[in-house]
Amino acid sequence: MRSADLADWIRHAAELVTADADRLSRLDADIGDGDHGHNLDRGFRAAVGALPGDDVPPGKVLIAAGRAIVSKTGGASGPLYGTALRRAGKALGDAEEVDAAALGAALRAALDGIQELGKAERGDKTMVDALGPAADAYDAALADGSGLAGCVRAAADAAAKGAEETVPMQARKGRASYLGARSVGHLDPGAASTALILGALADVTGE
Ligand code: ADP
Ligand code: MG
Ligand code: MG
Repeated sequence: MRSADLADWIRHAAELVTADADRLSRLDADIGDGDHGHNLDRGFRAAVGALPGDDVPPGKVLIAAGRAIVSKTGGASGPLYGTALRRAGKALGDAEEVDAAALGAALRAALDGIQELGKAERGDKTMVDALGPAADAYDAALADGSGLAGCVRAAADAAAKGAEETVPMQARKGRASYLGARSVGHLDPGAASTALILGALADVTGE
């Protein structure tokens, strides 16, 4: 992947977030304060507006998007997604081209950044329950010899499955944790948006 491909991903993710903003906010209304989709919509629009030209390396594209998301997305998810993108961008360094191994390292760096900031473990009913399995599935596909598109498809599928698996969980982080046992039986909105955003990556990388 090159800079233009990563910019395409951010633009496509923004489109999907806009299209799904109401659904994501409804999920958040069930166990939070009902703003997740609209928080992310604002953040991804800002990220699209902040995309640099294709003459900068791919890592810098993600760093610019992450900065915009941190500054424009309200709520817990803004700093978390913004940090994820900035960490992923840093992991890519100054390389002009992102290969399958580099993208896997960036995905892992994004997960680590989210966990350092938010302190959520797997099973706490957050975006980590989508991104964690995604990073693992990516690495497993890479080890099996898949190319970048195959690894991304495996990651996106694992994120979707991981998001579904938040339904029976009780939230232990974020606003939903205030509900205690009443958070059980609902899809975590942040896990759902992570699945959407990785699905957008699979759309742009798929042959
Ligand atoms: P807020 O809860 O501040 O209104 P959002 O509604 O935008 O923020 O985002 C809520 C989502 O953020 C949750 O569904 C969850 O996935 C994620 N989240 C909240 N706290 C954490 C955390 N500490 N670590 C990881 N993810 C978190
Ligand atoms: Mg919210
Ligand atoms: Mg909020």
